[in-house]
Amino acid sequence: MRVANVGGRLTLVGPEVGSPGSFGPWSGRDVERASGGRFGSDPQAAFADWPALMHWASQLEAHADMVDGRVASVAVDASALGPPVPRPPQVIAIGANYGSTVRAAAAAAPSMPRLFTKFASCLAGPFTDVPVAGDQVDWEIELVVVIGRHAHDVGEAEAWDHVAGLMVGQDISERAVQMAGESPQYSLGKSFPCFGPTGPVLVTPDELPDPDDLALVCRVDGEVVQQARTSEMLLSVPVLVRQLSALITLLPGDIIFTGTPAGPGFTLDPQRYLQPGEVLDSEIGGIGGLRNVMVRQRPRVFR
Ligand code: ZN
Repeated sequence: MRVANVGGRLTLVGPEVGSPGSFGPWSGRDVERASGGRFGSDPQAAFADWPALMHWASQLEAHADMVDGRVASVAVDASALGPPVPRPPQVIAIGANYGSTVRAAAAAAPSMPRLFTKFASCLAGPFTDVPVAGDQVDWEIELVVVIGRHAHDVGEAEAWDHVAGLMVGQDISERAVQMAGESPQYSLGKSFPCFGPTGPVLVTPDELPDPDDLALVCRVDGEVVQQARTSEMLLSVPVLVRQLSALITLLPGDIIFTGTPAGPGFTLDPQRYLQPGEVLDSEIGGIGGLRNVMVRQRPRVFR
């Protein structure tokens, strides 16, 4: 199943929606209309009973655009797509989760995930422009996990059963703020407006041949800057769900940014940062692609 946020409305879509390099128009099915109001229009409310929504949607597959006399088909285009999970109760982000980004001596899997949050106000749609709010704005393509069921003390074998789906994400960061002060300010430097584009749609794990091994590629103005597979993550999705749920409770509709592979601009020599006008493309095989254009913003003064 593929679920999108189309102009703020929960919508079922096909695999063409958000496929890399494609911007519509496509069509989808409006969930509230197709269900006769059994399910609401708010994409976040989908997680109130995700298993019921998925069961209903699987029954719907065989039907045409008319559902019990109601026209459920809607037009979808890239500019109407919002973040599939617009108001997650918790946003968890993991650092240093690929061997390629960790110094060779420390490339073994960490005993604990390195964890921070991106405040939910930074979440943006898959094609939203990103204000370049500083001189050191950097890219980080990441697989984003969406929790579908309340998870506390969940083992690795059951972990995927608690996952609603996967999205592409960008953990955009302003490195000067991230590194400012006596200790790093990850959450602050990574939560400016539009610093968390996600989407283009939420894809359920059963749509993917192997949800533990997906190809990621990130480009700036067409140049490949990051390329890896999610099977290279030091802490896999099942391990993250086990470790996190052993300590905290994961709630339906939470999202987890799972870390980025080698290639962010601050690790390059010379360092490279995003400039107004540059186009950031982020793709994950089987899920789709984000395209975010960097736009100029009045310079801020950081004190
Ligand atoms: Zn990150």
